[in-house]
This record gives sequence, structure tokens and C-alpha cells, in this order.
Amino acid sequence: MNGYFDHNATTPLLPQARDAWLRASEKHWHNPSSLYRDAGIVSQQLESARERLGTLIGADAERIVFTSGATESNNALFASLPTDQVVAISAIEHPSVREAARGRHVIELPVNADGVVEPDAVKQMLTTKQPALVSVMAANNESGALQPWREIASLCREHGVLFHTDAAQWIGKQDASNLGECDFITGSAHKFGGSKGCGFLVLPAEDSRLNFIRGGPQENGRRAGTENYPAIEAMVTALEALAPRLSEIEKTQRRLRDEFIAAMRSRFETLRVISENAPRLWNTVLMVMPAHHNLKWLTALSRRGFSISTGSACSSGKEGSSVVVTALGASADELKRVIRISGGWETNAEEWQSLATAIGDVFDELNRGGRPQ
Ligand code: PMP
Repeated sequence: MNGYFDHNATTPLLPQARDAWLRASEKHWHNPSSLYRDAGIVSQQLESARERLGTLIGADAERIVFTSGATESNNALFASLPTDQVVAISAIEHPSVREAARGRHVIELPVNADGVVEPDAVKQMLTTKQPALVSVMAANNESGALQPWREIASLCREHGVLFHTDAAQWIGKQDASNLGECDFITGSAHKFGGSKGCGFLVLPAEDSRLNFIRGGPQENGRRAGTENYPAIEAMVTALEALAPRLSEIEKTQRRLRDEFIAAMRSRFETLRVISENAPRLWNTVLMVMPAHHNLKWLTALSRRGFSISTGSACSSGKEGSSVVVTALGASADELKRVIRISGGWETNAEEWQSLATAIGDVFDELNRGGRPQ
């Protein structure tokens, strides 16, 4: 039995997205900026995809700029702010936010013991400081902890401060229909069954500062370069396919994931599941194993056909790379034992159970001092 348990790093293409991509690539490959009829059709389809995405995330279509993914969206946003402006970001942001914010005055918003940014902490900060932007992700990529972005967005609105949420892990897994309440939203297609190299940034309606790739007039002059219409069509189709099924998927997958945690607990009494008491994405388990280096776990599980991660994919391979576990004040030794399991929309009971069995077997193997049976 094999199992892919690294959906927070990336997801396989959904069949509906694949079909949409192929159809768009074969029939509507013309440059949407050209002036003949076939190009005009692509341009119309592109605008219709923007409208459909706007409906799914509760934002006016004209606020949406298509990008190459979440990293570009996050970088573009921070690059648009004058360097002398103060920004507030949470302690658990993805490296594409942390690094993009580097070099300016950054207020770090702490997380509580469950890895969640408390609205009260934001409120307190806003009573004494007036940052140009507050950025708190919607769902954490490592622990899956859902952040109270809606409350924080509303606090920021009350204080006249712009609010950004990196919703790369939220969209496609949780109801996204209210995200438009945030001034800025980051999304990425390959996190929910779309193709890689495609995403978006939502801006406030009246924002005219953002002009992040210069050149032609595409994307309302904000991001030049021929639009990747097939990938955009695939992304929107993927989200349309998932959105109506989310509550049913969540119910099934949460049960399977929680049974997996129970199986882990019965095997490892001292197992620590990060953010276990917080509302979390239904697919994610970030855990500190009782012993052995996480790369050993990862390699031994990979040999058995299971794909897992040591934390954030962008820093995998680096020891002690978990941003969340670091923010929670873990010891260097604990950091080396962190593994992340992230299931998918269709992961079945057998796959979860086989993973639990494989983890038990790997523990015995590692205790014996390593390599196989
Ligand atoms: N933000 C978050 C929360 C993520 O999980 C990721 C992917 N690891 C990114 C940003 C970067 O996404 P992309 O691959 O689209 O650049």
C-alpha cells in the first residue's frame, strides 16, 4: 500500500482541472491581448474565470490579479509598500511572507500555546501602533491551525489598517466565500488540485499602487506578461469542483485523520500533536515523534511508499525547520523529531490505516538501529 501524505506541499491535478487545462490549451491558446476574434474569445473566457473566482471567494472580480502563485503574490504585496512603513506579521507565516517582509520594521504577532494568533493580541498591538499592514495567514501550512482571520480583518478595519491573509492552505479546504472581507488575499492553484505556477492576489478595489511586473498592459497594468489562461481556467474549475463538496469531505476526512491520531496515541503515549486543541484543517497532523530524527522517519517511510514531510516543504531537508514548532518554543531536540502528515480530499481509510501501521513498523526498525527487516 502506498500513500501520498504531503498535500500541504502540493496536490495532484484534479481530473476536472486537467480536462479544463487541456480544453483551454487546445482550443483557446491564442494571446488574449491580440485583436482578432479567437483572441477575443480567450480574453472573454479569462474575464469569466475571474468573475467565477470572485464569486467563490466573495470578492469583486476587478480586485483579482492572476499571478504565478502564492510566493509571487506575497512578494508583490510587500514590495509595493514603502520600505519605511511598519508591518505586523504573525510568528508563523510562510517563508514567502517572512522573507518578503524582511528589511523593514516588522512587528511580530505572537501565537498562543495552540499555535493560534489571538485577536486580543492584535487588538492590543493596534491600540499602541499603527502599522501600514497586518498579515496573518488563514490556515497554517505546518500545523493546519486555522487562524481567526475574520475577527482580525474586522479589528484592522475598525483601526483603519489594511489586512492581508495568505490563504494558500485555506482555499480548497475550508469555505472561502467570505475571504473577500480581507483587503488582500493570497491564493495558489497547486494547493487545491490546480496546476503549479498559477495563483492570485486580491487587492482592495481602489488600490492603484500595485504594479508589480512592468511591461504590457495585462491584468489592468498591474502584472505584465501574457496570461496563463489554461492554468487559470484549471484553477477556477478545481475550486468549483471542490467548493460544493467541502463539508462532506471535511466530515469524512476529519474522522479518518482523527482515527489515525488515535492509532498513533495508542502506540506512542508521549506523542505530541501540535495545535491539537485548536480548530485545524481536516487533513493535517503535525507531530513530535517520541524518538528518532525526522529525516530517518521520512526516508524509512518513503522506502515503504509513503510520502510525508518534516514540516514546511520550502525548508525541508533543513534540520529543525518547523517555523510553528519554533514559535511554540520547542527544544532543539524536539525540532528534530517533527513530522507532518497531510492527507487529501480522497485519501481513504486503508491509506490512513496503512500509514499508521508503517509508522509503527518504522519505529521498531529505527529502534533496532536502522535499515530493513
Ligand atoms: N503560503 C503558504 C501558506 C504555503 O503553504 C505555500 C506553499 N508551501 C506558499 C505560500 C507558497 O506557495 P507557491 O508554491 O504557490 O508559491
